[in-house]
Amino acid sequence: MSQMIREEHYDTIVVGAGASGIGAALGAARNGARTLLVDAGPGVGGELVSGINLLGMWSSNGERIVGGVGRDLLEECDRIGGYVGRLSDFRPIYYEAFDPEYMKFAITRLLARAGVELRLYTFAGEVVRDGGRVKGLLLINKQGKTLVRAKTFIDCSGDADLAIAAGAAHEAGDPATGAFQSITMVFRMIGVDTARLLDFMREQPENFAISEQAFSAIALPREEAIAGLHKQGQPKVTLSAQGPLLSKAIDDGEMFETSIVAFAPVSALRREVSVNSTKISNVDATDTRRMSDSYTELLDQALTCVRFMKARVPGFEGAEFSGLAPRIGIRETRRVIGETVLTGDDVRSARKRDESIAKGGHPIDVWVPGRGVHWEIIEGGGSYDIPFGCLIPKGLENVLVAGRCLSSSREGQSSARVMGTCLAMGQAAGTAAALTADSASGNVNFNELPVQRLRQRLADQGAIV
Ligand SMILES: Cc1cc2nc3c(=O)[nH]c(=O)nc-3n(C[C@H](O)[C@H](O)[C@H](O)COP(=O)(O)OP(=O)(O)OC[C@H]3O[C@@H](n4cnc5c(N)ncnc54)[C@H](O)[C@@H]3O)c2cc1C
Repeated sequence: MSQMIREEHYDTIVVGAGASGIGAALGAARNGARTLLVDAGPGVGGELVSGINLLGMWSSNGERIVGGVGRDLLEECDRIGGYVGRLSDFRPIYYEAFDPEYMKFAITRLLARAGVELRLYTFAGEVVRDGGRVKGLLLINKQGKTLVRAKTFIDCSGDADLAIAAGAAHEAGDPATGAFQSITMVFRMIGVDTARLLDFMREQPENFAISEQAFSAIALPREEAIAGLHKQGQPKVTLSAQGPLLSKAIDDGEMFETSIVAFAPVSALRREVSVNSTKISNVDATDTRRMSDSYTELLDQALTCVRFMKARVPGFEGAEFSGLAPRIGIRETRRVIGETVLTGDDVRSARKRDESIAKGGHPIDVWVPGRGVHWEIIEGGGSYDIPFGCLIPKGLENVLVAGRCLSSSREGQSSARVMGTCLAMGQAAGTAAALTADSASGNVNFNELPVQRLRQRLADQGAIV
C-alpha cells in the first residue's frame, strides 16, 4: 500500500538545530523568511547544550569577533540567570561560560520570538532536485513522510547530510589517512570546591595545561598565567597528560589514554563543572553502528574519570557526578567542497577577505589519538575571515552549509568548528537566504547574491564581518 506524503511550503528550511542551525534560523526569520528548523533529536542546541563553554567569540588578543545572534543568546541567558561570564584560560583563549540548562530556554525563547517554526524528532533524508537546484526535502518522523518545499535550504546538520543528498562533493576527516578527530562524551560534576582546585593548580602547575609551547608567541609569562587563573576564581583549568598526575594515572591503568581532563564552569550555585576528557579516536561518526558501540565505551570512560577525580584531584573529594551531555560529541565528519575552501594557512596567517561574512579566532585544534594535542595559533593572536564561498557547495544553487561541515580543509575546520564561529556562519547563511526570498522567479542562485549587500545587512544587525 503506498503511503500518503504530505506537502508543506516555506521560504527557508534549516536542517540541524545546533549552534549553526540556531544562527541560520534566527538570521532567516528575523529578516522576514518563513523558516522551518528541523532536528532529528528531542531538543535544541546540538553541542551548544553539552556543557562546554562557547569559544570563538573573542580572538586571543581580546578583540570581540562575533556579535549578532551569538551575543543575543548570551544576553538572553544572562537575563534568565544562566550566564557565568567571559573567562580566559590565560594561554590565552577566551571563553563565554554559561549554564547549558538555561541555554536551552534562551534558544527556544529567541527562536519563538523570531517566529521560527521548530520541528523536532524529525530526520531530514532524501531531496527532490532538478540539476543544481533542490526543490524539496523529505522529512521522516512518527507521522510518516512530509515533503517540504522551499526556495532555499541550509544544511547545519554537522555532517552535511542535506548537501550530500543533493549531490555536493565532500571530504571526510583526514582524506590522506582516513583519520577522524576523537569523539567525546562530555559529563558534569557537582559540588566542586573551586578554591581548593585552584590552590592545587598554583601549588602544582606542572599538572596543568599552562603556557604550552604552541602558544609561546602570544602567551603571558608562566607565573602571570598561574596568578591570573587563580585570581579569576573559576574552575577554568585543564589537567594535562604531559603532567605527572594524569600521565601516572594513565600508566597505572587508573585512567584511559587521553590528552586532557578539561574543566569548564557551568553553574556557580550548583558548584558544577563540565568535564571534557573521554576520547575514542578515528571513529567515523556517520557510521551509526560504530557510534552506538562507542556509547558504552565512552560511558565507561566517564565513570573511570569520575573515580579518578574524586580520588586524586584536590577539589573533587566531595564532588558528585551530575549528568552526561545529551549525546556523544562529534568534532569532525564530512566537509563539503564549496566555491571557496578555508585552509589551515588562511587560519594561521589571519587572512582577510573582501567577501567575509564571519570571523574565526580559534587556533588550529586537532584532537589526535593518545596523549598529545595539535595546536597552532593564529598570527598575533588575531582573527581570520570566512568568505561567503565557504558556505556555497560547488554545483548547488539554492543550498548553503554552515557549521562544522563548512567548505574547509581539515585544519581550517579544526578552527572554524567552534561554536561562536558556527553561530556567526549560521547567521550569515540565514540572512543570505532571507535576502533571496523575495526573488521574483523563485530561482535563487546564491552565487549571484551581492555579497556586499549581505555584509551590510549582517553589520546592520550587529554581526561582525
Ligand atoms: C567534545 C567536544 C568539545 C568541544 N569543545 C568546544 C568548546 O569548548 N567550545 C566551542 O565553542 N566548541 C567546542 N567544540 C566544537 C563545537 O561544539 C561543534 O563543532 C559545534 O557545536 C558544531 O555545531 P554545528 O551546528 O555545526 O553542529 P551540531 O552542534 O553537531 O548540531 C547538528 C544538529 O543537527 C542535527 N542533525 C544532524 N543530522 C540531521 C538530519 N539528517 N536531520 C535532522 N537533524 C539532523 C543534530 O541532531 C544536531 O542537533 C567541541 C566539540 C566537541 C565534540
